[in-house]
Amino acid sequence: MDTRRILRNRLQCRLCGDIIESRSTHELVHCKCGSCFVDGGRSYVRYGAKSRDDIVLLTEYEETPVRILNIHGYGGSAENAAWGALHSLGCDIVSPVIDYDAQTPAETYSKLRRTVKSEKIGLLTGTSLGGFYAAILAAEFHLPVILVNPCLCPFLTLPRLGYHGDIRAFFPLFAKLPQLDRDTVSCIIGGRDEVVDTHDLTRNLLENERFRVIPEGKHSGATLPLLHYFSELMRYYGVKTDKGIGIS
Ligand SMILES: [Zn+2]
Repeated sequence: MDTRRILRNRLQCRLCGDIIESRSTHELVHCKCGSCFVDGGRSYVRYGAKSRDDIVLLTEYEETPVRILNIHGYGGSAENAAWGALHSLGCDIVSPVIDYDAQTPAETYSKLRRTVKSEKIGLLTGTSLGGFYAAILAAEFHLPVILVNPCLCPFLTLPRLGYHGDIRAFFPLFAKLPQLDRDTVSCIIGGRDEVVDTHDLTRNLLENERFRVIPEGKHSGATLPLLHYFSELMRYYGVKTDKGIGIS
């Protein structure tokens, strides 16, 4: 449930370049070429276009404190590169230690679901296998999510990394991925990711104006400019940070 307060309800038409803004609840505004509109003022964001690719949403939200659930990867650390970037920005982070070998995927998911509810999580981040869980949690709870080299096909990738669990257990979770709302997702991937080779699918499912490929980046989040990227996204998602300005 998106509970963010809207400050400005704007979008840009990619076809004519027009930037249009709805200033009050029932003010429906068309761009000058007529191919898209925005509506809802500061109450809600409603828009229309022939194709989602024809518009750039420029909604601005009030910055509010948000608790973030950070989910590390297979064999990763709770204080991984994503955690480090969030910590540098002064974010409120919950980052559980997860032993993916000691429990089934269903058990991992169920524990994470409980954490989302008990900790009142407002934003998710996930790296590699953590990105898989973050993506399906985002789909279920309609939460914004930031994915770092997400491993969206763990049944393909994990066996190569020495995982001995039953890979069939991932399929019911994988089936939830198509419910993910592209408008709430941001994703950064390394062009030279040497671990996850399914980023064609990542791009196909998730590409939007916040999708970034870092040509020299590898699998480790430490090889990606996460501080810069997260700082930009905290503004986009309206998350209040202690230090979000002036980072290059
Ligand atoms: Zn237009």
